[in-house]
Amino acid sequence: MPLTTALRNTLRDKLQQRRTQMVADLRDESINDEGALAVRSHRGETDDEAVVESMDAVEIASTARDATELAAIDSALQRLDTPDFGICIDCGAEIEPARLLAEPTVLRCTACQQRFEHQHHTPGGARL
Ligand SMILES: [Zn+2]
Repeated sequence: MPLTTALRNTLRDKLQQRRTQMVADLRDESINDEGALAVRSHRGETDDEAVVESMDAVEIASTARDATELAAIDSALQRLDTPDFGICIDCGAEIEPARLLAEPTVLRCTACQQRFEHQHHTPGGARL
């Protein structure tokens, strides 16, 4: 059964809401970046280089993850009106509507996603 218009509209709303939220979060993070810069300018006095460096690592990881998710959301929004949306990119089966509602950016059905994650041991990259 193809995706209903109502389901597509629901998914579009969810994706757009998440996109708006992420853009707002990124704006918050740039404010935090200024705070981190203030810490950095004082590190000669505080001797906290290790702390500052680990903060940098967390910030970089978080920015990379946000960029990846934002790209996934944009791609899902673009595919939403095409016949490919909701179709597993590996086996061509329809992805369960409940799965799409939980995670509108998924590209694979549950079985293929599990196989994909098993084949691509992404250390620390586990999602869901
Ligand atoms: Zn599949």
